Amino acid sequence: MVLVLFGAPGVGKGTQAQLLTERYGIPTLSTGEAFRQAIREGSPLGQQVRSYVDNGLLVPDELVTAIVEQALSAPTYQNGCILDGFPRTLPQAQALDELLARSGRRVDLVINLIVAEDEIVRRLLSRGRPDDTETVIRQRLRVYSEQTQPVLDYYAEQGKLVSVDGNADIETVHRRILEAVAQRVLRDNATT
Ligand code: AMP
Repeated sequence: MVLVLFGAPGVGKGTQAQLLTERYGIPTLSTGEAFRQAIREGSPLGQQVRSYVDNGLLVPDELVTAIVEQALSAPTYQNGCILDGFPRTLPQAQALDELLARSGRRVDLVINLIVAEDEIVRRLLSRGRPDDTETVIRQRLRVYSEQTQPVLDYYAEQGKLVSVDGNADIETVHRRILEAVAQRVLRDNATT
């Protein structure tokens, strides 16, 4: 199963990805986390992406896609993957389809987590990550809203998009996601 968690910064993708990983035993691949780790380690990748991450800008598609391609070819992800924070742009979504197709895989479901903007800002400010200052948060939200619609349209056209209301506590949102996945599995079984 390849499951994409989509949504603005601060909607709880990382938290929900972790819960899904525990529930399904499928590892999460988080591009944001991979970048933060590279920055902490001061690796060449970290040096390449630092200024983008620090300023709330998107890392160039080619770079992100190359990282994901490399990761997804590792044995760890052969039984499936929860994608947190990727794809974020239409070219990334298209590149993901291509690279999955090469190994006979595909995106199964895209969960669009929706949270009210005031709540997003409140959550991000309380999280305290280095890129969670108010200016950078605003920038990340702006970038998100510019890039979002084409990605949502792309997956909606393929019938893979499910929206989940994320304005609730962690457990409730987790249950909503599990229901969305279960419904999808039922539907797929009925049509095949
Ligand atoms: P996140 O942890 O998903 O909020 O990502 C933190 C930062 O990493 C973002 O603000 C971007 O600078 C960068 N980043 C993470 N994922 C991507 C992606 N799919 N495309 C471009 N930049 C990304």
